[in-house]
Amino acid sequence: ARDGETNWHVYNGSERMLSYLQDSVDWRKKTEQALLEGNFRLKYQPIVNINTGAVSGYEALVRMIDEESKLIVPSKFIPFSESDGNIGRIDKLVMNKALSDFPILLRQKPDLELHLNISAKSLTDPAIVSLLQQYITALSLPAQQIVIEVTETAAINQVNIGKHYARQIVELGCRLAIDDFGAGYGSLTYLAEFPVDKVKIDASFVRMISSSEGSSRLLSSLSQFCIGMNKVTVAEGVEDVDVLNMLRDMGINEAQGFIFSRPEDLSDIIEANFYQYDIADINATQNQKQR
Ligand code: C2E
Ligand code: MG
Ligand code: MG
Ligand code: MG
Repeated sequence: ARDGETNWHVYNGSERMLSYLQDSVDWRKKTEQALLEGNFRLKYQPIVNINTGAVSGYEALVRMIDEESKLIVPSKFIPFSESDGNIGRIDKLVMNKALSDFPILLRQKPDLELHLNISAKSLTDPAIVSLLQQYITALSLPAQQIVIEVTETAAINQVNIGKHYARQIVELGCRLAIDDFGAGYGSLTYLAEFPVDKVKIDASFVRMISSSEGSSRLLSSLSQFCIGMNKVTVAEGVEDVDVLNMLRDMGINEAQGFIFSRPEDLSDIIEANFYQYDIADINATQNQKQR
């Protein structure tokens, strides 16, 4: 299922319907238990400027810790949390943790951005906006370096409602990104109507550019459009150097993906103190592998 959406279309037929209902009860219990015990952890994945190789920021990505201390990826529990209403509690927990962590990152590289994922449902929760405000004030955080990622879904499809809440984020001085752009709902209305500073192009779209000329032309045009509109473009899920080079040629600004790094623990990032990739070296390493 697509991230951040109910994944119930994978359960068709009555047997599957029953198993969906069972799963949603189970995940709700697990999630509520984890919320009570604080059993969530954040990973951080770098976002890299593909022209300079500099790390421009980190995206906070939540994991649930299960009874055996294993980490559970969000695609397992977030779709259920969005249906049962627990998503707001998760987003608040993540916001608390990530905004408390942010000064530690800023001490190492003061211009880093912090990307936070907020469900479209949480965007309409006034408590989220005031929590953001409180942290910015209490910790003197650079608001313009906080990027709130919202996935384009049916929930913000009602442009007027979405716009109202989006504006509150922007009024705090924070920036707004559309996440998973091109993954489904893909409406150009967002780009025209929303106060969006960044467009994150979905991994499924990014991956198509090496095999489909149509996709690569489409992305090229989107990139040009964003340049004209003063929006930063970020390619998600970049694993391959050929794709990286195509993205750069198209004028895409930033990239995120296993080619640079998987999501990591904050302590490992701080210890490594590594904020500059060598793009020429990534090319050379890949060429060596091919030989
Ligand atoms: P997203 O915001 O689009 O995050 C990118 C996802 O792609 C992450 O998955 C990341 O680990 C994965 N990824 C990054 N680079 C690569 C790559 O090169 N190859 C592949 N195959 N995957 C890559 P993750 O961490 O499992 O998160 C999945 C989704 O869960 C996120 O998608 C986001 O929509 C949601 N999510 C994560 N944390 C939160 C949160 O705190 N709140 C909310 N509401 N949603 C969250
Ligand atoms: Mg995201
Ligand atoms: Mg995304
Ligand atoms: Mg995604």
